[in-house]
Amino acid sequence: MKNITENKDQIIIVGAGIAGLSLAIQLTEKKIPCIVLEARKSFGGATSGVRISSKGVKILEKMGIDNIGEPTKKIVMYFANSKISFEDKTEPDASPAIIVTRLAVFEKLRERINELDIPVIYDYALENVIEKADSVVAVSSDGQQITGKYLVGSDGVGSKVRRLLNPESKSDKRYAGYLGLGFIFPSSEKIEMSSFNNTDGNIGLGSIGKIDCNDTYKNNFLWMHLHMTEEEAKVITDKEVYEKVTKKSENWIPYLQQIFRDCKTNPKTVLYHQPVYNGSIPNKWYSERLFLIGDAAHPYGPGGQGISLAMLDAEALCELFANGVTEEKKANFQTTRAAMAKSKGESSEERNKPENQIVTEEELLFNYQLMKDFHQKSNGKLEM
Ligand SMILES: Cc1cc2nc3c(=O)[nH]c(=O)nc-3n(C[C@H](O)[C@H](O)[C@H](O)COP(=O)(O)OP(=O)(O)OC[C@H]3O[C@@H](n4cnc5c(N)ncnc54)[C@H](O)[C@@H]3O)c2cc1C
Repeated sequence: MKNITENKDQIIIVGAGIAGLSLAIQLTEKKIPCIVLEARKSFGGATSGVRISSKGVKILEKMGIDNIGEPTKKIVMYFANSKISFEDKTEPDASPAIIVTRLAVFEKLRERINELDIPVIYDYALENVIEKADSVVAVSSDGQQITGKYLVGSDGVGSKVRRLLNPESKSDKRYAGYLGLGFIFPSSEKIEMSSFNNTDGNIGLGSIGKIDCNDTYKNNFLWMHLHMTEEEAKVITDKEVYEKVTKKSENWIPYLQQIFRDCKTNPKTVLYHQPVYNGSIPNKWYSERLFLIGDAAHPYGPGGQGISLAMLDAEALCELFANGVTEEKKANFQTTRAAMAKSKGESSEERNKPENQIVTEEELLFNYQLMKDFHQKSNGKLEM
């Protein structure tokens, strides 16, 4: 076996998020050697819930990952007490979208990483990259060097690789203007993905399945954004989050209020919150030996199908490495992936901005009418 730190045939993957781990699994299945470098000390940590679209589920299945989370075939939209239900448009015979905890996804990805014996180096924070004629060298913040053939930046919204590739442009991450938060709580009530529009924000709800493989019961997931300054979002405590959401819930419809009461009184409820960051799509996604995928390439905030996009990027880049890297294919990779990310990410980015929130009853009614018209035109089907 070649020394894993000096293998000029291997692909160095920086970041063990969904994008990086998916790429590592797909490359290894094609017998292309790779190594994953991760700044964190281990997998795991706090969990939250995410929705993965049918396209994302298809890639998970391709990687041998299924039976996680809860399927959701509908998107139910509430505008105060009025309700519109869309069927999620999926490809014929495709599995439906799921709502799942990040922990459950990572558990399965980690299982595949171990089964395939893929090397992962933790506590490795990439600081610099040296591109040579025949290889690339990753350099960590403490000077550790790893050599490979290509290096892929899957290092998320604050990507170091994006900055190294785009030193002139302002591609640093920036605060999106809100705290992302979610409650995961035991419940056997099956709830399709639901979105409750209010005059003080939008609340999501849906069944999420088991938190991890040791969980003995199913859960539901209630999530929302709270607009506040970055300083507030960084220091807010669980107690303060509960207080703010309790205050907000006074304006909710009784059904949702009841759900929140159940969630609040259940001692097993898990609360997750974090300030949300985004950034600008960079001009350069690749150089001679560097590539970007996932949030590192398209740093949009929540709601834009970031996970599915990350897995689709990984699939496309794996094909590129497997079929021979040419300038034309590299340019095509960036053009097609950027167009997809833009179409999925921009509208949600706009929707989430503090200044674009629904604040009056008139706006709520207007949005309801718009959605009703759209429901009619689209035969009640929506691609999400
Ligand atoms: C609140 C919230 C809710 C969301 N909800 C959804 C949802 O419902 N559905 C959905 O599809 N998407 C959702 N998203 C977006 C989704 O989480 C991301 O698009 C997705 O996780 C991106 O995966 P990634 O692998 O590109 O990046 P990440 O998951 O961010 O992984 C990057 C990895 O790189 C590591 N890293 C960073 N810097 C370095 C370095 N210098 N050296 C080495 N390692 C490094 C990090 O530690 C991390 O492990 C949500 C995002 C937020 C914030």
